[in-house]
Amino acid sequence: MAPLPHMDLAGKSVLVVGLGLSGVAAARFCADRQARVTVNDIRSVDALATSLARLPSTVQTVLGEHPESLFCGADLIVLSPGVPPLPALDSARAAGVRILGEIELAAQYLDSDVVAVTGTNGKSTTTSWIGEMLAGLDRPLFVGGNLGVPLIEAAGTKAAQQSGVAVVELSSFQLETCASLRPKVALLLNLTEDHLDRYGSMEGYGAAKARIFAAQTAEDWAVVNGDQPDCVALTASIRARVLRFSHTGSVDSGASLSGDDIVLRIPGRPQMRLSTTTIGLVGRHNLENAMAAGLAASLLGASRDQIQAALDTFGGLPHRMQHVGDRSGVRFYNDSKATNVSAVVGSLSGFPGQYVLVAGGRHKGAPYTPLRSILEGHARGLVLLGEAAELLAEDLAGVAPIQRAADLSEAVRLAAGLAEPGEAVVLSPACSSYDMFPNFEKRGEAFAAAVAQLGDQTP
Ligand code: ADP
Repeated sequence: MAPLPHMDLAGKSVLVVGLGLSGVAAARFCADRQARVTVNDIRSVDALATSLARLPSTVQTVLGEHPESLFCGADLIVLSPGVPPLPALDSARAAGVRILGEIELAAQYLDSDVVAVTGTNGKSTTTSWIGEMLAGLDRPLFVGGNLGVPLIEAAGTKAAQQSGVAVVELSSFQLETCASLRPKVALLLNLTEDHLDRYGSMEGYGAAKARIFAAQTAEDWAVVNGDQPDCVALTASIRARVLRFSHTGSVDSGASLSGDDIVLRIPGRPQMRLSTTTIGLVGRHNLENAMAAGLAASLLGASRDQIQAALDTFGGLPHRMQHVGDRSGVRFYNDSKATNVSAVVGSLSGFPGQYVLVAGGRHKGAPYTPLRSILEGHARGLVLLGEAAELLAEDLAGVAPIQRAADLSEAVRLAAGLAEPGEAVVLSPACSSYDMFPNFEKRGEAFAAAVAQLGDQTP
């Protein structure tokens, strides 16, 4: 790809709205390029202390409110993902102020090959897996985005130059404000009900996800879940060449299963066979992630051996079906990242033996009834907590005995009491963590701590 003329920020008045990880990174990036930067967040100084400490001293702060004059007076607004619609933003838009997200800002400075990954579930796992597959390519490599390091931190590094590769996880929130990021390979892993509290309908959610293909050209590739008609439909009129991956059938162009092998068929290239018998991650959903990752890595030039080695050695990420301990013969798994119903379906489908499920948190709009067929005959019991406990109890009535817990420690104690030796306790909440925790990581850590404490009480 020919290098783009980079946006000149020197002397510009930049307003960064939302001081999460990406907001802080964007503010630092703009300040480094001599922009006059102000950050704005509805939260207080105390709540933002850690973020504020990471800002250069030249950055101004306006907290606790969103003043219209501040928004309308900016040359450029960098909007963090998940910031709700604000009247001040509407006014700025009407006044002609340029508004973009951190990903779109980063896209102005990326001359490298980009692999972009979105979908309802499996984004982080697949992004990391592709990173492992490409690590041996001898090209400067960035792996991040919604996962870990914000993409703007790649800008200005070797991974952003033409010789580099950036593998980027993108959420639907990030894609909403993304227009010019042009992935050489864009992956849409799956599309199931999630974030209906924000989008209202699957159409709106799907439209946000489909933006990943918007800037692609006929030289680029789209990798899409061939088993999900909703995903395939979103590629109907895109410019990129489409590869499908299918767990259930065969595909002309893309990836499918044949016996114990994944077969990659990419037009114009020799067929590639990968063995599934040695893959480090279990579960049907991880086979899908492996197929998608393998296609992307192969398109970027990774060899069969490099891809197979990464398939075999990658052990997964924390908070995704992570084994956090054994107590009295019961195994405990932290799947705190399963923040929606289909993630729990993915995690528990094919899970061996009986288990007690710990679920609940903040409700996100979708029904829990798809869990019934997964849990029936496999769940020893359900321990429910958080704001969604009542709805979960209604939707799952009768599939297994239900107990309620006031907090996660109590949930772990109750679940440990329900599980028999040889069985498992799985925290796979189907809900966001925000009613009780700042994020899913803290929830997962609290679960692991409660399991450890359990050991103290019942040695
Ligand atoms: P994301 O970044 O999209 O949230 P993760 O890789 O962090 O995805 O996995 C989140 C949860 O989704 C985990 O609980 C995991 O078990 C489940 N999961 C992972 N991949 C898939 C998939 N392809 N389909 C359905 N569920 C999946």
